[in-house]
This record gives sequence, C-alpha cells and structure tokens, in this order.
Amino acid sequence: MNPIFDIEREHLVKKLVREGYIKSDAVKKAFLEIPREKFVPNHLKKHAYMDTPLEIGEGQTISAPHMIAIMCEALDIREGQKVLEIGAGSGYHAAIVSQLVGNKGHVYTIERIKSLAEKAYRNLIKSGITNVTVEIGDGSLGLPSYAPYDRIYATCAAPYIPDPLIDQLKNNGKLLIPVGRTICRLELIEKKDKGMRKKDLGGCVFVPLLGRYGHRL
Ligand code: SAM
Repeated sequence: MNPIFDIEREHLVKKLVREGYIKSDAVKKAFLEIPREKFVPNHLKKHAYMDTPLEIGEGQTISAPHMIAIMCEALDIREGQKVLEIGAGSGYHAAIVSQLVGNKGHVYTIERIKSLAEKAYRNLIKSGITNVTVEIGDGSLGLPSYAPYDRIYATCAAPYIPDPLIDQLKNNGKLLIPVGRTICRLELIEKKDKGMRKKDLGGCVFVPLLGRYGHRL
C-alpha cells in the first residue's frame, strides 16, 4: 500500500462530492474502498487519481471517475442486487459496483477482448473482490445465463438500445446505456409492467459497443 495513493484517493472523492457527482454515502464509501491505481497500467499509476479516462491497452480506456459516479448514482444500486456490466475494461467500475451490491449481491461483467477480460479478472482478485464474475463475449447480447438482472449498464456506446438487454432486465429494473457513436447521450430506461420509461441524462463520450446489436466491427 502506498500512502500517497490513499491521500490522492481521498482528495479525488472530496472533489467528486464537492462537484455534485457523488451524492450518496454508499457511492462515496465505494470510491474510498477501491484502489484505482491497481486497475491502471504501471506507467500511468501516477495519474490514477486524475478525474480523466486513461488508456488500458487494446485501444480501450478506464472511464473517468466522475462518469462512474454519475452512472452509479443514476442506477441507484442497492445491496443484494444482481448487476450486469457490458464492457469490463480494467474491472474498476465493476469493483466499485461490487461494493454497492455487497456480499449478498453479485456483479457479472462481460468483455469482448480476451486479454482485457483476463486482466480485469486479475485486477479484481488482487483487490480482494470475490463477488464479480468476468465473462468473455459479445455483451450486446447481454448475458442470458444469469438473467434477469436488477440493473444493467454499458460502458460503451450502442447505436440503439439492444433488445436483449431489455429482455434480461427484471420488472422495475433499470438499464443505463450511452447511445450514439463516440459522442452520445446517456439514457436511463426503467422497465415497468406496462412498458418502459426513458430519461435522457445528457451528453457523454464513450468507446463504441461492437457486436451483433452494436456498431459494426
Ligand atoms: N468499465 C471499464 C473500466 O472500469 O475500466 C471501462 C470500459 S471501456 C470504456 C469499454 C469496454 O467495452 C472496452 O473494454 C471494450 O472492449 C468493451 N466492449 C465494446 N463492445 C463490447 C461488447 N459487445 N461486449 C463486451 N464488451 C465490449
């Protein structure tokens, strides 16, 4: 443990609270618990607590902390829930969510790039996290083997909302997904008995969701 990282983590969390991205104690606690430096490549560790995306290899990025905070708050993730993440990347976002669902909950994360999925798995193990399952595959199809989910979110931008993700959501469940290509809108969908409620949470920038219900390779 490097005490400098602990100080930098506390500063970042204070900034995210001050700027209104972190609103709840649960999200604040999760950010304080998870060491972002363990999820970024060695040569970028000194930038681990900058509020910016960082390269993680294969042309992909770990999302900016403020975006992860926005997504966690919008999804209102509760203890004991079953959550599906599309786009494991480094595993950091899934690690934050693992703290929100606690020991009785579980996070499933799916990544299409094998080397990243393997790295995410190792990062999670190194951080002592045991309630996240990492799968390799096309997350635009969801992950039917563990469905239905209380919450589903994508960390990459889809051309439209993939039907399988709606199908795999529980009634009263929430889906959060960037829609567009690179420059996109963050959309929150709530599944209700009589249909769906959609809310536009604003503009954002994400790498594309590639795959069957995603952008073309
Ligand atoms: N959540 C990640 C983190 O905490 O590091 C950030 C993920 S990065 C912004 C988006 C990821 O989505 C990339 O790793 C990319 O390979 C992945 N991706 C894109 N299309 C996908 C698909 N169809 N299925 C699964 N993963 C996909």
